[in-house]
Formats: sequence, structure tokens, C-alpha cells
Amino acid sequence: MNKTGYYTHRDCWKHDMGHDHPECPARLDAIEDRLLMTGVSDALERREAPTAALADIELAHDRMHIAALRGLTDRLVDEIAAGGPEHAQLDQDTAINAHTWQAALRAAGAALAATDAVMAGELENAFCAVRPPGHHACRDKAMGFCFFNNVAVAARYALERYRLKRVAVVDFDVHHGNGTENILSGDPRALMVSFFQHPFYPYSGDQSPAANMLNVPVPAYTRGMELREIIEMMWMPRLEAFKPEMIFVSAGFDAHREDDMGQMGLTEQDFAWITYRIKDIARRFSNGRIVSCLEGGYNPQALARSVEAHLRVLADV
Ligand SMILES: [Zn+2]
Repeated sequence: MNKTGYYTHRDCWKHDMGHDHPECPARLDAIEDRLLMTGVSDALERREAPTAALADIELAHDRMHIAALRGLTDRLVDEIAAGGPEHAQLDQDTAINAHTWQAALRAAGAALAATDAVMAGELENAFCAVRPPGHHACRDKAMGFCFFNNVAVAARYALERYRLKRVAVVDFDVHHGNGTENILSGDPRALMVSFFQHPFYPYSGDQSPAANMLNVPVPAYTRGMELREIIEMMWMPRLEAFKPEMIFVSAGFDAHREDDMGQMGLTEQDFAWITYRIKDIARRFSNGRIVSCLEGGYNPQALARSVEAHLRVLADV
């Protein structure tokens, strides 16, 4: 059995943060086009993302944070009906429209449903082509284009629902996954390994705050070969020692050399290599179980090629 799930939902296209915002629906179009054109789509089991239950989102977020997002959405819908603007700004980079709440429920729901399917053995692994992304969303705060932390919600769910003892989170986005760190730091059932450009948004992570966090800040212009060495020397021994029963991936592709959001030098070959290493750990310790969720990646062509490379490894095509 080697089936790879592909979770998405049209609601994820409807969330929009305003004209010219880099975290835009066209990102998902670019991915879908590329997967169709290359035939990789045919190797995937496509599934609709359900909406997440609020009780499951509460595994990683405060009730007040969830209620606030719901309330802001209701207010925005009323304001739009009264002729107001289409968006409400939460911070400098992060805004909601009338569809954000539903898209955020689908994005977290994709990660949860993928977890169920992988745990049930229906799928070996899965990729969630969703937006909004999640890894900057903290327990009580939306930020950095993120509202609910899809990966942290699913990781906590796997621990609670399936009584797993150890889950790993691997984050290769160019930005530090401060939200995931905020939620999982100090939880010995979770190990998070990441690298990220530093100093850079969100200007955190230069120190690992707890024993279960392995943060590897790297300078701008770091290239693939250097990163592969870092991963081999720092991530791999920690993952091998931890022996995760399941692996969650914050799959951001904004460390690509053609992505102007960051200044790192990775290519699709590097993303494929990282995916091989993750898959190797999953094969040895986790019964192959991987749930990967889209985070960043803002050059649509580079993003699409990188997701293709990631999926070719996950699905063995
Ligand atoms: Zn990012």
C-alpha cells in the first residue's frame, strides 16, 4: 500500500486578504495546474477537506481566539452588507474577508481528516493543499497570514485521539514557525525540528525555548548543500532518537531561490531531498505516516514545481 492523499477544498480559494497580497488564491491554482500538467495528480487520491470541529481546534487554541475570529467575521459580513469594505485588517500583513472563517476551518479540517485516514491505514501519507497557512498562528493570536495552526491542531489531535506517545513536526518554511513553537513548546510528546532564515520575520527562534524544540536559524543566502548538511547533522539524530510514531510537516516553499519573500537558495531538488529524509524516518519509525500541510511559497511557478517535487517523493512517482 502506497497511497498519497491530496486534501483541498474550494473554500480555500475564497479566503483573500486584498489586492496584491502574496498569500493569494492563485497559489493553489498554480499547484493544481502543475500537478495536472505533469500527471502527478493521477497518482494522488483527491479528497475534499471537511470543516474542523471547534473542539478539535481547541486542542491547540484558546476558546477566546476562536470566538474572536468568528465574531470578527460576523461583524465584517454585517459591515459588507451595509456597504463597507470587503476586508478587515487584523495586523499589518493579515486580514480577513467574509470567507476566511470557513477556509480556516477547511484548512484545519484537511489536516485532521488526513490524520484520520493515515491512522486508519487508508492512506500512507497525505498532503493538504490548503490556505490559510498555519505555522505563525499562536495559541491565542492570528498573525503572519495564519489563523489556526493546522499542523499543531492535527499533531495534538493525533496525540489525544489516537493516544500516540510521540509525534514529530518538521518545518522547512523560510520563516520560523513561532506559532507551532508557542503551542507545542514544553510538550514532551512532540518534537519540532526546523530551520529558518534569521534574523527575519517573525524575529524569534534564535534560541530553542524547550528541550522538545530544535531550532536551526540560518543566515540569508544559505544554499541547499549547506542545508542538507545541517539537516543530516542536526535534525536526523534527533528524529532517530525520538522515534516519532507520526510525522507532521509544515511544508513552506518560500526558501526557494526564486521566492522573493525570503533570501534563501533552495531549489525543488532540495525540497525533494528533504522529503526523502522525512520519508526515511517515517518508514523506519512511523509506519510511513506523514501528514504534510502547505505553509508559505509565494512565487507561483517555483511553488508549483516545489510541491510537485515534494509530492513525487511522497507518492513515489
Ligand atoms: Zn513562510
